[in-house]
Amino acid sequence: MKQLYAAGLMLAMTGAHAATQTVDCGRLLDVKSGAWRERVSIVVENGVVKSVGPMTQAPGNIDLSRHACLPGLIDMHVHLTGETQPVVDSYRDRLTADTSDLAYRSIKYAQRTLLAGFTTVRDLGAQDGLNVSLKRAIAAGDVPGPRMYTAGKSIATTGGHADPTNNLSHFLGEKIGTPGPEQGVIDSPEQGRQAVRARYKEGADLIKITATGGVLSQAANGHNSQYTEDELKAIVDTAKDYGFRVAAHAHGAEGMKRALRAGVDSIEHGTLMDDETIALFKKTGHWYVPTISAGRYVADKAKIDGYYSALVQPKAAAIGPQLQATFARAHKAGVKIAFGTDAGVFPHGENAKEFGYMVEAGMSPVEAIRAATVHAANLLDQSKRLGSVEAGFAADIIAVEGDPLRDVKLLEQVKFVMKEGVVYKKP
Ligand SMILES: [Zn+2]
Repeated sequence: MKQLYAAGLMLAMTGAHAATQTVDCGRLLDVKSGAWRERVSIVVENGVVKSVGPMTQAPGNIDLSRHACLPGLIDMHVHLTGETQPVVDSYRDRLTADTSDLAYRSIKYAQRTLLAGFTTVRDLGAQDGLNVSLKRAIAAGDVPGPRMYTAGKSIATTGGHADPTNNLSHFLGEKIGTPGPEQGVIDSPEQGRQAVRARYKEGADLIKITATGGVLSQAANGHNSQYTEDELKAIVDTAKDYGFRVAAHAHGAEGMKRALRAGVDSIEHGTLMDDETIALFKKTGHWYVPTISAGRYVADKAKIDGYYSALVQPKAAAIGPQLQATFARAHKAGVKIAFGTDAGVFPHGENAKEFGYMVEAGMSPVEAIRAATVHAANLLDQSKRLGSVEAGFAADIIAVEGDPLRDVKLLEQVKFVMKEGVVYKKP
């Protein structure tokens, strides 16, 4: 793997200097129509697709004539600055790891994600502005990674999912102090507004709230509502002033309904969605981001004694296995779905497994690919720039061998990755 990263870095450096490139694709997926276009040449200029046309006699400078090309994939729910580990190691990190240690570790998570074909991600929460710094480093070309849209610190209520001080000893609790809106913890509409503005100041691109309890927080309840409606409304209304979209983590139905009524743009996980919630999704037109991968992974790890804490283990065992069935029901009912995995809860770079889980639960491969391209771009408010290979769009192109519309698992073996005209992986 080390060599692969080194090769990727070198390619990135050479690619950065080529102002005009022609990518010859054996076939290119038009994600909007769902049809393949055979023998296509994509002309890329300064990181943007200039034209897409029939392959000419003169060979292009990137030969993918035996490959199938697709737009770069988009994952709407990752945490690029951390990765799953046994609870004892997480607690050790809390005592011994500096923010800079965590930052250096996240470099390999970003690389793995990009080399897996994900050219854009939405990072839904990190502490100490780590995800905002990583976004800047990637955008500056200092670290190879996917284009990032970040929430900065997730906003929680006291003791809620994403309160960084949950279940600490009194000694540590006193040292750290009570977190407030600046640290992403609120207990009133006023503080909600303050927390949104603090994210603006932090350099976030969107807002993430934890509308209900969660699986991996050190707290007893994994699905209870954790905000009042006026708190949610204050957050959503303030977010709009800053052009922020709002993503709401939610497992319980009541918390989901409150968040949807308050006007959040997406619900993440959505595990205990009932018929009334499904109806509300359809009425509001808001998005569902399923994260089946995270559910499957935590359900699996919950079987290993001591991997999670005594508080977390039963939640992981109860909630994890339900996500895929929830996805199946939501899809069947016609809820709008954007691709998201919660990578970080499982190892980064395995994001594409989600496609297999989606198809297993009844979605067609082309619809699953749309969820990770055009639909995700729509939820990011980037429909004119991301999620499709066409003139004027960012030159984010990946390629696989074979036909992913027949076998969606081929997306787990991406052979070529270009982001904004820079090649990071070649066959
Ligand atoms: Zn998450």
